Amino acid sequence: MSEDLIKVRGLNVTYKTSKGVFGKPTNIYAVNGVSLTIKQGEIFAVAGESGCGKSTLAKAILQLVPTASGEIFFKNQNIFKMTKPELKNYKQKAQMVFQNPYSSLNPKMTIFETLAEPLKINTDLGICDIEKTIKEKLILTGLDESCLKMYPHEFSGGQRQRIAITRALMLNPEFILADEPVSALDVSIQAQIINLIKELKEKCNLTFLLITHDLSVIKYLADRVAVMYLGEIVEYGLTEKIFKTPKHPYTKALLSSAPQITKNNSEKIILKGDLPSPANLPDGCKFHTRCPYAMEKCRQQVPFGTEISPAHTVRCFLYDS
Ligand code: SF4
Repeated sequence: MSEDLIKVRGLNVTYKTSKGVFGKPTNIYAVNGVSLTIKQGEIFAVAGESGCGKSTLAKAILQLVPTASGEIFFKNQNIFKMTKPELKNYKQKAQMVFQNPYSSLNPKMTIFETLAEPLKINTDLGICDIEKTIKEKLILTGLDESCLKMYPHEFSGGQRQRIAITRALMLNPEFILADEPVSALDVSIQAQIINLIKELKEKCNLTFLLITHDLSVIKYLADRVAVMYLGEIVEYGLTEKIFKTPKHPYTKALLSSAPQITKNNSEKIILKGDLPSPANLPDGCKFHTRCPYAMEKCRQQVPFGTEISPAHTVRCFLYDS
């Protein structure tokens, strides 16, 4: 059994808007009581509609946004209690690949400068060793040194994403958060980047947290998946199991939109009603305003996760034992 690499316990992230209703600041409840464990060497995906809080969750794990409460552990060490050197080490071991390779690379820096920067800031390597390290990492991502004197605008979207992934590898990370890593790319290029992620996981012994709304990417890459709705994880478990036999009414609706991917032949479920605003969360089960099975209890009480079979947990009163 693999070791736990990342553990998140009861995480809450709340934003304040500068102006809300009647000009007053409003609280946005982006992540609400999330707990999950990511094992060493796996690809763990978080799925859900845009605005469900999945990107905020990833940023909170990397301390890129402030958290309201909860705990995050890296190799059993609470990141909020780390000393400065420990936190520096954590930030080297956990890297992020962003959705848009057009905006994530500095247009004024050559590719050499972009790739050398993390080494110059975080190590005392001399220029020869920096060049050697860059060349080694370029080979891993299918690039070569001919790109080093060029600028980001001289590359296609797929090549830019390869460069962004190379930059994420520069400090020998153990954990990479990939936030919609292919959604800004042409469909013809997406498969190449997806395969690269799979190869890097094996070659570099990496663990990935994959944030995506794309079910085909999850099916191909992820060992386990968590489904998020309004900042809460409503179901999680092995990808194969969840795609074959989803249990939570929201997961069923989400997966029913892509039967060709899930190979689940249930009828398409059209949810009635809009996604409530994270500024005005419903009481009880957050899904009750759209759930076809909602009961009186669902409007008043919050369901907790029930492990309905090994490695498959659902947050719904229908499965309470
Ligand atoms: Fe639907 Fe109730 Fe289950 Fe929520 S707890 S998903 S409202 S049945």
